[in-house]
Amino acid sequence: MKRYALPMMMLVIFETIAVTLWLTMDQLFYLFNFSYIGISIALGIFLFIKKYKHARRVTQLLVGLYMLVYLGFISRENMQIEGFWYYLFTGVFEAATIHYAVAKIFGPLLFGRGWCGFACWTAMILDFLPYKVPAGPRRRIGWIRYVTFAASLVFVAALFLAHVGNIEKIMFWAFIIGNLLYYGIGIWLAFAFKDNRAFCKYICPITVFLKPMSYFSLIRIKCDAGKCTSCGKCKRLCPMDVDITDPSRKRKNGTECILCYECVEGCPRNAL
Ligand code: SF4
Ligand code: SF4
Ligand code: SF4
Repeated sequence: MKRYALPMMMLVIFETIAVTLWLTMDQLFYLFNFSYIGISIALGIFLFIKKYKHARRVTQLLVGLYMLVYLGFISRENMQIEGFWYYLFTGVFEAATIHYAVAKIFGPLLFGRGWCGFACWTAMILDFLPYKVPAGPRRRIGWIRYVTFAASLVFVAALFLAHVGNIEKIMFWAFIIGNLLYYGIGIWLAFAFKDNRAFCKYICPITVFLKPMSYFSLIRIKCDAGKCTSCGKCKRLCPMDVDITDPSRKRKNGTECILCYECVEGCPRNAL
């Protein structure tokens, strides 16, 4: 049973969030929403334990498509960072603000960047591209994420300051156009840099929240120095250039770890 502690734990965490939000906000939607996400995540981890090759991809598609198609296109909720700013400025704690609080701001204290490995609808598409392992060294252009972060904030703040009417409709179109841009730039960068996750490394504004919070993550992969032979395979397999053999929180690119478990699967010594 010890093997199944992690999926059980994720299920309990998400079910607690589901029931708490359902009762405090008096909206049945939250019970459905977070139960569905919790079950999808627990299923993915369970399949991984069972050594199913595409376990992570199953969860990525279940959660990513639900959020993109159902919440975004059908329910017209902007779950991107602009939607977060929008709800924050209106002082409403629902939709994107709850999503950000759970998945991208406070959740990473517990499960790191599990969102990036298991649920993000942008990475859901990028992970289909051919460059699972980066072909070259990391580039020093990570500062771009602060520009995109600031641009998203200024865009939404400007709408409020200019008293633009019908911001909800603008937010819906911002979601459509924003996603098209993310996919377009993400796919182009993946081919240009021969690296599926180039968008995550250099452009994504959400990493401004994710990186510092995941530094303190409770769930993290550790290396058993007694088993490790320093063969370097884990570093070669890592899509995010993390030095996972270093046990400290200051490990190289440590806040880039997306908990994809490629290193764990690939380690010939079961040291991770
Ligand atoms: S870094 Fe951004 S685009 Fe990449 S998986 Fe995380 S949230 Fe998605
Ligand atoms: S793949 Fe395993 S044995 Fe090789 S360096 Fe990484 S942790 Fe150590
Ligand atoms: S260190 Fe392992 S789990 Fe983290 S991103 Fe790299 S391969 Fe994935």
